[in-house]
Amino acid sequence: MIDAHNPVELAQALIRCRSVTPAEGGALTLLEKVLKIAGFDTHLQTFTEPDTADVTNLYARIGTEEPVLLFAGHTDVVPPGDEEAWTSDPFGAEIKDGVLYGRGAVDMKGGVAAMVAAALRYLDAGTPVGSIAFLITGDEEGPSVNGTPKLLAWAKERGERFDHCLLAEPSSRAKVGDEIKIGRRGSLSGTVVVHGKQGHVAYPKLADNPIRRLMTLLAALNQPLDYGTPHFERSNLEITSVDVENHTTNIIPAKATARFNVRFNDAHTLEGMKALITERLERAAADARYELVFTPGASSSFVAEPGPFVDMISGSIEAETASRPNLSTAGGTSDARYIKDFCPVVEFGLVNATMHQVDERVPVEDLETVARVYGRIIERYFAQSAPSRTILPSAEPVSKLSEISAEGELEAALEAALNAEAQRREEAAEAAAAALNKGNA
Ligand SMILES: [Zn+2]
Repeated sequence: MIDAHNPVELAQALIRCRSVTPAEGGALTLLEKVLKIAGFDTHLQTFTEPDTADVTNLYARIGTEEPVLLFAGHTDVVPPGDEEAWTSDPFGAEIKDGVLYGRGAVDMKGGVAAMVAAALRYLDAGTPVGSIAFLITGDEEGPSVNGTPKLLAWAKERGERFDHCLLAEPSSRAKVGDEIKIGRRGSLSGTVVVHGKQGHVAYPKLADNPIRRLMTLLAALNQPLDYGTPHFERSNLEITSVDVENHTTNIIPAKATARFNVRFNDAHTLEGMKALITERLERAAADARYELVFTPGASSSFVAEPGPFVDMISGSIEAETASRPNLSTAGGTSDARYIKDFCPVVEFGLVNATMHQVDERVPVEDLETVARVYGRIIERYFAQSAPSRTILPSAEPVSKLSEISAEGELEAALEAALNAEAQRREEAAEAAAAALNKGNA
């Protein structure tokens, strides 16, 4: 039996499970066993949906009290690609010169191992004043249909609720803890099809060239969407393809198609972004005949406002690495986009430089460092926080949890922040009522 208190041993055992999405590969059953032995109430849940593979997921919780600190992650991995190109077997979990090689080493079996090890170490010293839960999916790298969204819905159905979530995705860039993700941009894809009239290039008056019209529409889409927000870069729209499928030189085609993707910040809601794109096309279209279709699966942006929870994580990282992380909202989407509907979520994990690559690898030392940071986070969360149910606003600076040692000080800081928030709400409500009255007048 492996010692799951050791993140390296546990990561090795997980890497040796061939859990390429949607295969479970033994990874979740292994974790279930480990957590059950440690006293967790565990549930392996397999979800099904027509036209997608069945996927197994794991939910585990220890404690019945609140607050509930949720650790989230996935044990599925992307395929190894050309196995011959690897220095060692991608599922062999070999350690060479202090570096652990294998598919999932950083994304994210290493992270899962570190959080489980941290929880077990913490539990050895006693029980938390609250609960620790694990939400581990086997469908993060795939369509994500039978994974986190369904497991969250299942948990909610059971009456589970979460106060804060730490997602162990590899968020670090060059060294452990240099970056954490406090939010993600939204993502929206769409297709524009312009209809014209086919004809001979020498007789343009008898035809209607859809390409010219499409160029006008795309120029309208290329305008700036905003100028960035406090936690986000500018929103960005990329035209990803323009297709006419015309292989001749003397035909004006009948139809032209373009596709685009927008990564947008918290200046926009998903509906707002759809409306903005629709309106820009309408305004530029003149008499063009076109269709705009948004691709299903779009997501909105979100951010866990800097406050006690984010500060506590930054402080725990600083205590272990001697520097505070950059708070980022960059990068692609992750399962945080589902979790954010249940509780504030922050992503912190290993260095992501080799994820999805041949020779994915992690220094053994990094696994230990991340496990120690997770350990500090658990300790501080239960020892100091008795956290508020939601992340407090950053407008009124709250004293940093990491710098507060006396419990009384922390309570005072939280109370001050809560009062500020209550006052802010009151003012907002008054302003809204005043606006309403004005509208009625
Ligand atoms: Zn991942």
